[in-house]
Amino acid sequence: MEEKFIKIINKNECTGCRACEQVCPVNAITMKEDIAHLKELHI
Ligand code: SF4
Repeated sequence: MEEKFIKIINKNECTGCRACEQVCPVNAITMKEDIAHLKELHI
């Protein structure tokens, strides 16, 4: 299935601040080991 999102998170630059997780309108961000990850969305 085709992905609908572009992955823009550079894991090497993520500070784990959780700002993206808190503001994402579709709840697409999850934190793993204090690094932001995009959830696998199948829409
Ligand atoms: S948690 Fe999200 S907003 Fe914060 S540094 Fe990482 S990617 Fe950027």
